[in-house]
Amino acid sequence: MDFYSSQITNLVEQLSHLPGIGPKSAQRLAFYILNMPEEKVKLLSDAMMSAKKNVRYCKECCTYTDQELCPICANQKRNHKLIMVVENPRDLAAYEKTGKFDGVYHVLHGAISPMAGIGPNDIRLSELMVRLQGEVDEVIAATNKNLEGDTTAAYISKLVKPLGIRVSRIASGVPAGGDLEYIDEVTLYRALEGRVDM
Ligand code: ZN
Repeated sequence: MDFYSSQITNLVEQLSHLPGIGPKSAQRLAFYILNMPEEKVKLLSDAMMSAKKNVRYCKECCTYTDQELCPICANQKRNHKLIMVVENPRDLAAYEKTGKFDGVYHVLHGAISPMAGIGPNDIRLSELMVRLQGEVDEVIAATNKNLEGDTTAAYISKLVKPLGIRVSRIASGVPAGGDLEYIDEVTLYRALEGRVDM
């Protein structure tokens, strides 16, 4: 099946490992890259390498950043006593876009899923518990409204409530099974405003 030079085949293969990229898309991207001016290709590959080298987890909230603290955690104007727990950095970005939340976040990088063999120790829950030793008024469980997200929220509630900290769950304005990333800002804002105590 080696129609092309091995270099092209290799490029196609590497691209096809990316999520959502099947063999056809990989081929199309490979040819697109080959037709790009060399300096553009260099910009692309440099951006990938430097992001990979320099991006790390925020010491506080575990989102991706290139500093010790992400801009949100470093911002003293944010309410650091209000922590919204989300599954991934894209959810954080979605809530940030509403511009209505002045608290801080905690990014779990996943959700509990016994089916997929993902337990509480596989997501960033212990980091959350460390943060709760400081002064915290409320933890908002803003994990997705699906089985994994609900399981995770219930688990968080079980851990946090005994500490005397309020735990709330985003409202069901979010469609069941909804992936937070694809929900519009108004709906997200309503889900946040309508949150209920767990
Ligand atoms: Zn942070």
